[in-house]
Amino acid sequence: MEKTEKKFIDDSKKYLMNTYNRCPIVLRKGRGMKVWSSEGKEYLDFVGGIAVNCLGHCHPKVVIALQKQAQRLIHVSNLYYIEPQIKLAKLLVEHSCADKVFFCNSGAEANEAAIKLTRKYAKEHIGVDKYEIISALGSFHGRTLAALTATGQEKFQKGFEPLVPGFKHVPFNDINALKKAITNHTCAVLLEPIQGESGIKMPAEGYLKEVRNICDEHGLLLIFDEVQTGIGRTGKFFAYEHFGVEPDIITLAKGLGGGVAIGAMLATDHIAASFQPGSHAATFGGNPLACAAAIATIETLLEDGFILDNCRRMGEYLRKGLEKLKKDYSSMIVDIRGIGLMLGMELTNPCAPIVNLCAERGILVNCTAGNVLRFLPPLIVTEKDIDHLIDVLEDVLGRVI
Ligand SMILES: *Cc1c(COP(=O)(O)O)cnc(C)c1O
Repeated sequence: MEKTEKKFIDDSKKYLMNTYNRCPIVLRKGRGMKVWSSEGKEYLDFVGGIAVNCLGHCHPKVVIALQKQAQRLIHVSNLYYIEPQIKLAKLLVEHSCADKVFFCNSGAEANEAAIKLTRKYAKEHIGVDKYEIISALGSFHGRTLAALTATGQEKFQKGFEPLVPGFKHVPFNDINALKKAITNHTCAVLLEPIQGESGIKMPAEGYLKEVRNICDEHGLLLIFDEVQTGIGRTGKFFAYEHFGVEPDIITLAKGLGGGVAIGAMLATDHIAASFQPGSHAATFGGNPLACAAAIATIETLLEDGFILDNCRRMGEYLRKGLEKLKKDYSSMIVDIRGIGLMLGMELTNPCAPIVNLCAERGILVNCTAGNVLRFLPPLIVTEKDIDHLIDVLEDVLGRVI
């Protein structure tokens, strides 16, 4: 390691709170699928900011939109009307089953907004004692307290008790468990249509439809957390489109700004009406700069269908490559899962050594849930990039066997 890079890392340890297990790489520059370290080492980025950099790094349309907006107006209060915010809301409504949008700055905040809207709506329309939200074990909904409580993984909650009252968890893909968990206090079901952080867990055939039916029977709201699955990640704009199910509330963040921090909570008119002036707010929510980036991202993503089509084709291509590896290394690879460019390869052993060896060889891959290699590359990834990844993985798997 070069001296300057070591200095960065030492300073990072000195000045930053120790909340992340970081690879010892300082990233300085990115273009498309590639990022470069401060030492000038080049990497192919199959992490993509964890589903954030959907158009690749520094996409020219996003960069230009940011430059133009930064020269015109960076921030004004939501006490005034904001042009890019209105345009972005219209785009999201036109491409979703929702009617209205609330903007915030992250996935956790989007889920907090969804939880608050759900509670308020439930009290007004379902019953004063309706507040309980059922979510799934293995889910991930963010790190703020209510989102953390909704998250169905104790490892993230440990040490932060007491958690927020009014949440319950059931096993994902278990319809009977869901039915049994409904009480007189239940008002909503909150699910990731595909669980991301817990290792790319797909919904069972028909599961989400049955959940929708149960919600309708019991008068419960259905909230989909599409923070990771949304904005084209699965080959459709929203993941729910794959399953023939429309939620009442959708939360978004990660890919929405093409790299810029922005979150959104979408709902139908009837439900959205429970938010009135003073109900909820976010100072930076829907600021001109973030909205300009998100507009450029969505317009580029949907322009001629090319990128979504590429996501579907490259998703299949990558899956085939991974399936072939699974055949050759059947003792190490348990399962290949996912859809579009949200793919996971479950290993028998922890994947940290593989992540490190891939980085040495110039490929960034993510490990989630300890033993699942997760691939969330920019949706502009090419066959050549994937060929390179598979070659490196093959070599690396051969070395750790
Ligand atoms: C990443 C993620 C979140 C949290 O988003 P932040 O922007 O980190 O708050 C919430 N839900 C899902 C499904 C996610 O993948």
